[in-house]
Amino acid sequence: MKISKFRIQFVEIVPSKLKDGVLYVCINCNVIVHKCACGCGEKTVTPIDKKYGWKMTYDGQTITLRPSIGNFSIPCYSHYYITENKVEWLEKYHKDKSKKGRFEFIKKFLKR
Ligand SMILES: [Zn+2]
Repeated sequence: MKISKFRIQFVEIVPSKLKDGVLYVCINCNVIVHKCACGCGEKTVTPIDKKYGWKMTYDGQTITLRPSIGNFSIPCYSHYYITENKVEWLEKYHKDKSKKGRFEFIKKFLKR
């Protein structure tokens, strides 16, 4: 199921089973995790980090994540923004060397 709008759930730890359409926000571990908005079911991890990660804006009701989310490592190549909980679809993701630092960072983050 393609997601057009996320719900937010603040969690102490990221659950192992994720529901569609939920943004799991873990401030303790500086990460937001969700299932890919295209409906493919892949887990998408966006570390919150000043240098290499994402920045989260929370207005009390909705979350905006920047930069875009590019699911470079999974077959769907989905690419989208999450703006005030809503999914804004972008062109399919293509490998972009300028983003390499971020990818390396995520890889390391996932290994922790
Ligand atoms: Zn997907």
